[in-house]
Amino acid sequence: MQITIRSVPEAQKRNPKEVLSKPLGFGRVFADRMFRMRWNEKKSWHDAEICAYEPLVLDPAALIFHYAQEIFEGLKAYRLPDGGVGLFRPKLNAERMNASARRLVMPEIPVEAQMQALTMLLRELKDWAPSAEGSSLYIRPTMIGVTPVLGVRPASDYLYYIICSPVSGYFEKGFAPVKVATSEEYVRAAAGGLGASKAGANYAASLLAAKVAKTKGYDQVVWLDAKEHRFIEEMGGMNIFFVYGKQLLTSPLTGSILPGITRDSILKLAPEMDLEVEECRLSVDKVTRDINSGKITEIFACGTAAVVTAVSIFSHKGTDCQVGNGEPGPVTTRLYNQLTGIQTGKLADTHGWTFRVL
Ligand SMILES: *Cc1c(COP(=O)(O)O)cnc(C)c1O
Repeated sequence: MQITIRSVPEAQKRNPKEVLSKPLGFGRVFADRMFRMRWNEKKSWHDAEICAYEPLVLDPAALIFHYAQEIFEGLKAYRLPDGGVGLFRPKLNAERMNASARRLVMPEIPVEAQMQALTMLLRELKDWAPSAEGSSLYIRPTMIGVTPVLGVRPASDYLYYIICSPVSGYFEKGFAPVKVATSEEYVRAAAGGLGASKAGANYAASLLAAKVAKTKGYDQVVWLDAKEHRFIEEMGGMNIFFVYGKQLLTSPLTGSILPGITRDSILKLAPEMDLEVEECRLSVDKVTRDINSGKITEIFACGTAAVVTAVSIFSHKGTDCQVGNGEPGPVTTRLYNQLTGIQTGKLADTHGWTFRVL
């Protein structure tokens, strides 16, 4: 299904070259154009346009503000060696957006229409994709229920928009390893809940545990399963892998874990890199034992924002375990280089993962 998108001209534009020449951080600076469209029962998706990045005007009673009917996606556009711009497996993001929409009783958007919106927006924003090492144009598609009504029910009107932010790297320390701690008191998501959906509500549930971890000197929280507080699920907003020499273990998608596209890519790449992969539930007791005995040689987390991040300290019940020598290990480093190499077009894209918009 194709949609009609109009481009609303804009009086004043910021100079992307000037913006990109300054420190970017993560998600602090925004490109000056956005995509948006509306949905209602009668017209389905309509009024699709690319317009100036600007504040939204919403009724204070809009459902999003009271019952958190919101979903989002996160993907990146990379500057390719020939000056073009590519997205990494964006159809999986579009499909996941629709899976999240079904779970939160929101309208789906045909994958083709999502691709069309991304392509047209990124062509307009071509000068906003940075080319410096580790940098990219982070893309945030978002859908919110906007009907002004305080009764608890799904909205009957929705706004979908896409904003873009040129970014350098996700973690302040760059590729430096992170210190992480399990949370015994709080959980991110329970089976049957929203854990497998990319919903803002999951992040609201995670803030307090992250704050507690920070005050104790840790960068991220390792989430355990909600029922037994025993099995490792995720790390912050990323999936987590445990390296046993040449074997990679990660939790299966239990229903409370977000099905990461980076996770899926690593599961597909690793066997080609002489690594074995297995999806199995890992108890935190086994993990701490295996770190201390040296069986676990590396731990890393993965997600679009930071790609791959090494874990140096894994803390459980107040005891710190150092992973390997505390530096990013060879498997983590190889996977990071392989993934970012494919994403930026420096390595051959044998899986056809890159979607060129330009
Ligand atoms: C987005 C996200 C991930 C990573 O997914 P990618 O598709 O790899 O970016 C992992 N966990 C959570 C909770 C997330 O929100």
